[in-house]
Amino acid sequence: MTGDLLVKGLHVSVEGKEILKGLSLQVNKGEVHALMGPNGSGKSTFANTLMGHPKYEVTAGDILFKGESILEKETDERARMGLFMAFQYPVAIPGLTFGSFLRAALNARLAPPTPDGNGAVPTKKGIPPKEFRDLLRSKMAMLKMDETFATRYLNDGFSGGEKKRAEILQMAILRPEIAIMDETDSGLDIDALKVVADGVNALTGQDLGVLVITHYNRILNYIKPTRVHVMIDGRIVTSGGAELAQQLEAKGYDWVREEVASR
Ligand code: ADP
Ligand code: MG
Repeated sequence: MTGDLLVKGLHVSVEGKEILKGLSLQVNKGEVHALMGPNGSGKSTFANTLMGHPKYEVTAGDILFKGESILEKETDERARMGLFMAFQYPVAIPGLTFGSFLRAALNARLAPPTPDGNGAVPTKKGIPPKEFRDLLRSKMAMLKMDETFATRYLNDGFSGGEKKRAEILQMAILRPEIAIMDETDSGLDIDALKVVADGVNALTGQDLGVLVITHYNRILNYIKPTRVHVMIDGRIVTSGGAELAQQLEAKGYDWVREEVASR
């Protein structure tokens, strides 16, 4: 079985406590998967593990990306391979415009600063400024964003909706193959939700697969998932189509817990 992102029997501990207890999941390009679950079920632990956060220790299982295990790879290497997690650098950086940040991020993705087979470090200069400006302009037009947005300082005073816009633009420029969006449960307003949903809908196609992690099903009113998975206590306990999200909306998570307990 191959998959663009293939997670097999993953066990993860944080500070000696096991949080993920055998999680398996496959996400392919062109698919949108929703991972849902009550608070504390381990959703964010999974997202952080996928990106290689050092605090999360994989004790069993594997994560394959494009057929290769990425467990030993650093976060930046995973990103260069085409795995994306919304805003890996969420700090405000006064003096660095969002546009410059995007250009630096794109150059990092295009030109890995590692030696080639002969030991020589590539000296590519990256994307020329004019080419980058054109790219940025076309992506902003596609996403209906105001051009002045790129001239603002990174995350400095960005509203919730603007941060989401920034993430989507970052995805459009970097063109990852699999994107993970952890919709931290801090209640995005409807406008911010629509920004995310419109962006995901505009960008998903043959080249991009998305894993949307969410507690509530609200965003799934705007994005139609290929598959919905329910996570409880560190495992995916049931999966289904878009209708599963509606069921969760109507009935909450307790019925899933009861069903699992009676198996
Ligand atoms: P979710 O995103 O589904 O709400 P989390 O992955 O944030 O769940 O948390 C799952 C469990 O792991 C919780 O019991 C939480 O306390 C614990 N946990 C998560 N991250 C950490 C951490 N960095 N340090 C200690 N405990 C953590
Ligand atoms: Mg979380």
